[in-house]
Amino acid sequence: MPISIARQDLLYPAFHFVPNPDAIDFSRFPECLLFQFGYTCSGLEGYVKRKNKCKNPRSCEFHKNTKLITSHRCMANVNDTDLYRQVPITLQYLKEYANEGSIPLEDGIAMVITDGELVSLQDLRRSVPGFVDSLRSQVWDVMLLGMEWSTGTNEAIYFNVPPGGRPRNSLVCGIILNCQGGKNMQSVRSLLHDCITLKGFDPAPLFNAADRISLWFGAQKIEGTPEEERIFRNMSVVHSIFTQVANHEPPMHFEEKEIHGNTMKGILNGRNGFEMCAEENGNITWRAWNDDGSPNCEMRCNSNKIEWMKVFHNHQVVFEANNKPLP
Ligand SMILES: [Zn+2]
Repeated sequence: MPISIARQDLLYPAFHFVPNPDAIDFSRFPECLLFQFGYTCSGLEGYVKRKNKCKNPRSCEFHKNTKLITSHRCMANVNDTDLYRQVPITLQYLKEYANEGSIPLEDGIAMVITDGELVSLQDLRRSVPGFVDSLRSQVWDVMLLGMEWSTGTNEAIYFNVPPGGRPRNSLVCGIILNCQGGKNMQSVRSLLHDCITLKGFDPAPLFNAADRISLWFGAQKIEGTPEEERIFRNMSVVHSIFTQVANHEPPMHFEEKEIHGNTMKGILNGRNGFEMCAEENGNITWRAWNDDGSPNCEMRCNSNKIEWMKVFHNHQVVFEANNKPLP
């Protein structure tokens, strides 16, 4: 049997460290036969958790036992792990609804999670059952769930999307369908065909149809950018890691802050008190210093475990841990 071996550049293009494969323009490698990504070393676990999609969750060995969460009510109390498990299977359920009109329902309503970023939107998760209840007195078709940033306030709200009213700084992470009560569900089903893309769920066709369907948006508004919000949200993760694993209180107080992308410097008495980087894929890197500039503590973790951490006293390491589960 003849064997041919492809040229190396067709199998292994330019990149290696890729925490976010969505950032790659695959059209730049038209010849390439396959794309190979690292896993643990490049922090891809976080990406996989939030974005992984299964093409055949009904029969796939990994996903066939995962059932769609049918209840929008449980959003308030379902645990994070179960919610993340939904992400790979949901596009298939949406596709089946678009094609055949069938999807698991509760009270005539279906809910699918299209992006694992929803898991971190705690205020929104708590608010979803109330949002849906308050729409009961009227006819509505679809409620998108997601976040809106640079809004100047921190709150979870819902609103009717006016024609052309797609919020500029927003991300859609889930969708609630009023399958039995909606008046325009035929149109919604044909719009959903265009929402399901190779890159995942694209809400643009629904937003563009806001003049024809009753479209609502349940959004967690955040004051600043998603990067700032992620940094502040993860400060409590850093705090619990040091206090619970090392019995050490990390210095988190600051008078001024400097934020560059996903990195923040906390400044105290005119010097760097700490520096923290919170990446989109769930990786956190933390370093803190004492008044005299000597190291206080440092650590790196991903969304599953503490990769390494150290606590210093008088320039000496007094506590050290590697590959520990998160507390
Ligand atoms: Zn699968």
